[in-house]
Amino acid sequence: MKKILIVILIATAVSVLFLLKFKDEETTKVFKQDELSKIGYNIDEINLINSTLDQSSINIILEHQYINNLKDILDNPDFKKENLDSYLELMNNTDLNVQEIIYIINNDYYVTGITYNDKVVEIIKNKYCIKDYLKRYVNYYNKNTDLDINKVISNVNANLDYEYYTNTSSVDLSKGNLVLVNKYYKLDKNYVPDDLVTIESKYGNTRQMKKEAYEAFKIMFEAAKKDGLHFYIASPYRSYSYQQTLYNNYVKSDGKKNADTYSARPGYSEHQTGLAVDLMATGTTTLNEFGGTKEYEWLIKNAHKYGFILRYPKDKEDITGYIYEPWHYRYLGVDIATKVYESGLTYDEYYAYYIR
Ligand SMILES: [Zn+2]
Repeated sequence: MKKILIVILIATAVSVLFLLKFKDEETTKVFKQDELSKIGYNIDEINLINSTLDQSSINIILEHQYINNLKDILDNPDFKKENLDSYLELMNNTDLNVQEIIYIINNDYYVTGITYNDKVVEIIKNKYCIKDYLKRYVNYYNKNTDLDINKVISNVNANLDYEYYTNTSSVDLSKGNLVLVNKYYKLDKNYVPDDLVTIESKYGNTRQMKKEAYEAFKIMFEAAKKDGLHFYIASPYRSYSYQQTLYNNYVKSDGKKNADTYSARPGYSEHQTGLAVDLMATGTTTLNEFGGTKEYEWLIKNAHKYGFILRYPKDKEDITGYIYEPWHYRYLGVDIATKVYESGLTYDEYYAYYIR
């Protein structure tokens, strides 16, 4: 008898608890319905919300204004519950379509402080867009609205949204032959390449350059010779202090502003890597003549096959930060030199997108 009483008591308690809970849920649902309809959702939308979303997602919806195509978001195959808050924020603040918004959020292109519009979408969809740079692209575009998006992206990738010699960082030496040295990437004062070799006099200036680049140069030299052409190394590796002297002399004779267009400041010269050479053609007396020689014609067609690229091309002055230098070649190895050549990009841009 006592046992039966206990069982009845427990059963009653469970039922009461269950009823209380059920009642509570009903109240909540009604409460949320009121809230949702207060924002502007109609009964169909509320039913959709209640059937698709859990309580925490519904609370997120309640934190935003009414969205007339909420259904399109919830029905989208790429919809992710955890991104709901961000979807709604962009829906409320832009004219972008649902597909674009879902793409932006799902792929982490959402950066606070950017006003999203068609231009931002165009930037994101560009082949050379680097996700981390999105805010910089947008800021740069806002200051240069006459530029097309391709140009905006290539300029920012080459750091041109910063003044030359500002926002500089150390050269990433772990990249080996693929290091980038320019007006934003600096070599240490004490950096000396570890495998410099002395150049034989038949190849030009008997100073030094990096062994791998030198071996490649020799093969290129012989190939050109077979075609009846002859160029030689006028300037190979330069130490930090050598570059310092060179630059200071140019500043003295030509002024800092001019010197900066053709001479690197110490630490910012590719020549310090031992991977760059200035070439001259036999029979000429200055670097400036090189662009008019058959040797140059041959090199712009063939240098990449031996691992070298023309580093400061014509019409890319604004990207490289240097005047057109038909005489300056940079060793990258055949694979990457060929890819850079075929891409039509400067190495500054190529590095940002593919190497960095
Ligand atoms: Zn040079």
